[in-house]
Amino acid sequence: MKYCVECGSEYQDSVKACADCPEGQLVDKETMRQQGLPIAHEKDTREFIQVGTAENPLTAEDYVRLLEAERVPVIARPRGSGSVDALTTGNALPWWEILVPAEHRARAIELLAREKDNLEATEAEAIRAAEEEERESEGFGAPPPA
Ligand SMILES: [Zn+2]
Repeated sequence: MKYCVECGSEYQDSVKACADCPEGQLVDKETMRQQGLPIAHEKDTREFIQVGTAENPLTAEDYVRLLEAERVPVIARPRGSGSVDALTTGNALPWWEILVPAEHRARAIELLAREKDNLEATEAEAIRAAEEEERESEGFGAPPPA
């Protein structure tokens, strides 16, 4: 059996290229393991652990894209929308947990921390811009300060 390095799909040894990935090289199982690449049908049996959380689906998506780009297998799972959570935590809003295989834990946490900083910086920038705009529109036509 051979496996696509891009998507992890399994192929007969006679197959030369992945049907889904034009760039996808087919290698043997040993090579996949050495490179820490996920094999499609084994993905679900791996032990995924939580490495982070996201407060909204956009952030969750962003994290998933980021980790996938770094070839870290990732699952984003919505949590905490139940009424029990609302009672115990006082937080009725859903959140997403980001899960990766245990062996990718350290790398994933590092990547997420960096991405979180980026997102917060972008957000702070957006807030600053919004405030600026507000000040400008408020200032327009107002009498000069005494
Ligand atoms: Zn593929």
